[in-house]
Amino acid sequence: MKNNQGWKFDNSYKKLSQGFFSIVDPIPVEKPELIFLNSRLADELGLDFSKTDHADVAAIFTGNQLPYAAEPISQAYAGHQFGHFTMLGDGRAIVLGEHISPDGKRYDIQFKGSGRTPYSRSGDGRATLYSMLREYLISESLHHLGIPTSESLAVAETGQPVYRETVHPGAILTRVASSHIRIGTFEYVYRFLSRKKQQEFLNYTINRHYPDLEETENRALGLLKRVAEKQLNLVLEWMRIGFIHGVLNTDNMSISGESIDFGPCSFMNAFDPSTAFSSVDINKRYAFSNQPGIVQWNLAIFAGTLLPFIDDDEEKARKAAEEVIREFEPRFNDEWYRMMGKKLGFSTSGKQEKDLTDQIISWMEKSKADYTNTFLVIANPDETPGHFKADQEFRNWHNQWRAVIEKQHGGLSEARRRMAQINPLLIPRNHLVEEALTEASGDGDYAKFDTLLEKLKNPYREQWEAKELQFVPPGFDEQYKTFCGT
Ligand code: AMP
Ligand code: MG
Repeated sequence: MKNNQGWKFDNSYKKLSQGFFSIVDPIPVEKPELIFLNSRLADELGLDFSKTDHADVAAIFTGNQLPYAAEPISQAYAGHQFGHFTMLGDGRAIVLGEHISPDGKRYDIQFKGSGRTPYSRSGDGRATLYSMLREYLISESLHHLGIPTSESLAVAETGQPVYRETVHPGAILTRVASSHIRIGTFEYVYRFLSRKKQQEFLNYTINRHYPDLEETENRALGLLKRVAEKQLNLVLEWMRIGFIHGVLNTDNMSISGESIDFGPCSFMNAFDPSTAFSSVDINKRYAFSNQPGIVQWNLAIFAGTLLPFIDDDEEKARKAAEEVIREFEPRFNDEWYRMMGKKLGFSTSGKQEKDLTDQIISWMEKSKADYTNTFLVIANPDETPGHFKADQEFRNWHNQWRAVIEKQHGGLSEARRRMAQINPLLIPRNHLVEEALTEASGDGDYAKFDTLLEKLKNPYREQWEAKELQFVPPGFDEQYKTFCGT
């Protein structure tokens, strides 16, 4: 039998009726060259490329040679971009199909940058090596930080130039996600397809992602609640590590609750709630601290597409949906204090812990302290750096914190152990990401990229070189801009 690398496709999305997707093949590329193959992820997916020729692997991950039983489609979707409704769809992406992993999980295998589709509008359907390497690095980092995310299986160069503000090498990313159903997919279905097809899609989504809801009385309301819960957890996790998605449009929010489509994303170094690096986010709509509110806004859009299925009586449907949306904010606030309390090593969550959280947040903001490093300093009083020691307000706060911690079961050592599990030592520092990407995509020099990627695989473990990743060059972030990087 021909070597099939372990692919096991079962393409359920393609069985949906007309209107949900277009059948599109990836457009062959001139000179396929494999740059990265994620062996950890390949193993988890039950894929083995060790017995396949290098050239064939490159051909597979550029779409020149389709894996057995792949049935490529581009998905139709719409979305609110910066608050405005637009028809979108996979303009440069193709879902090869759904692969079933050895543990029975279903994953979309998607190419990004594989050529024009019926949804490309004026775009070329292609992607730059720079932006595909960026997605590879950040998704791998998020995964190891323990945050739900789409993952990257491979990056391959096409051998063809991509024209943006300058000429870039073109590349294709193979993205793996539990699905690519977005809030924007529901918006598309609600606005453009029949009530019957809306029902079909609701059934499909519930069956694929939340099958336990099948038995519940109000499945649509159940779905809204479940997605709200997943998204609350996701945005809380982003706030935990200082992640700024950068373009939280409704088409970039997945029904599964995974981080997805984080093109111009970045990390906050100095604590400032208004941090936004994306060049297109002029009004800072998607700034760090706006993210929970934006997620809530996006969920309200999602709720709107479900109303006819929540109740025949529109008024009743609206009321029920509004309740779910309204309770998002207080629930997020509660969870945020709980999460911050854990970052601070507290084993209980009361008034005292909340006050100490508020105080350290406002101190970090005032003194522009590094968000990641501050929690490491708090946990390690014996190694407090000079500039923290010199700050009277920090010292006072730390004495109060210490008094609370010492009264807890296990004292400081137990608190430190817990803190080490939730506070990363390493995050992808913006300047290191840019340096690594520029050298890799510009000069073909992957030394820095490889080192950074390797270190980010152990973000919670002390590594002797860790100090380097905790230093941010003064002034870098003030100038820093990220781009949608298509
Ligand atoms: P994103 O910013 O990645 O969420 O993309 C927004 C929309 O633009 C989606 O419909 C994409 O498919 C589309 N798009 C982005 N880049 C390109 C491109 N180079 N060619 C065609 N469509 C694109
Ligand atoms: Mg998108």
